[in-house]
Amino acid sequence: MLIDKLHESLTGGGSEAGMSYWSTAAACGKRALLDKRKALSGDRLKHYDVGSVYHKLHELWRLGDHVELEIDKLPAELTTPEMVEAIRLFNGWRVFWPKDYWGRTLAVEQEVAVTLLNEKVTARPDLVVDITEEDLPRIKSRVELPGPGRYIIDFKTAAGENDPLVYSESLQAVWYCNAWKEATGEQCEGIIFDIIYKHPRRKDRSITEESFGAVFASAYGRHVADIQGLVEQGRDNVMRAKAYNLGNRAECVRWSPYKAITCPYFGGVCEGP
Ligand code: SF4
Repeated sequence: MLIDKLHESLTGGGSEAGMSYWSTAAACGKRALLDKRKALSGDRLKHYDVGSVYHKLHELWRLGDHVELEIDKLPAELTTPEMVEAIRLFNGWRVFWPKDYWGRTLAVEQEVAVTLLNEKVTARPDLVVDITEEDLPRIKSRVELPGPGRYIIDFKTAAGENDPLVYSESLQAVWYCNAWKEATGEQCEGIIFDIIYKHPRRKDRSITEESFGAVFASAYGRHVADIQGLVEQGRDNVMRAKAYNLGNRAECVRWSPYKAITCPYFGGVCEGP
């Protein structure tokens, strides 16, 4: 059953060398090591947020599962607010768009690995598709593309509309097409961010066509070298954490105009041996 696979998948391991690992390591090596330890402990379900569950649902569905997801049939241990919200969004996506909306699927969550500065750096695009000339008029209603070709699709959830630069200048936009080309030799035209808005404050939570957005970021003009600094700093931070058990205290609390965001290990596990 889909729900069993979902549970299995959510409690399984994740990538240990992806962009999220390297950007965490570049900020604090100790946090990267603690995250890895937490993932290996198998206690991952609580750690998953709406976006992660939403991704997993897309992945399992696209890999061939056909079971409908009914929230009231969820096992008790899975009825978390995050899970319920992710299922609401995922079922909403399926109401509006066919499975092959973005073209012919070539790969689903296929991990590719590249060696950079002697370190393994991975990418795991949600979807790789071939978009043909015939697909373009349909897709135009959501996003303007430069032409037919191979594209990476990245599914996103967001509270509401963001500046498109949030997506087009993200690490995924810089890295994914480069990684795919380095590992497979295949050129992608770019990455399309397929975004669903949660609109948490709206009284009417129904999903309409307005709940969707899409942003395209071209693969051209991006270089593998663009992320070398991130990997180099991450590697040095992890070495420092391993050798001296030291993290980066400047990252323990981050300040935004409205609140302080504390590292989950601050004042807790981080202080231990
Ligand atoms: S509490 Fe600070 S030093 Fe410790 S892991 Fe978090 S960011 Fe790093």
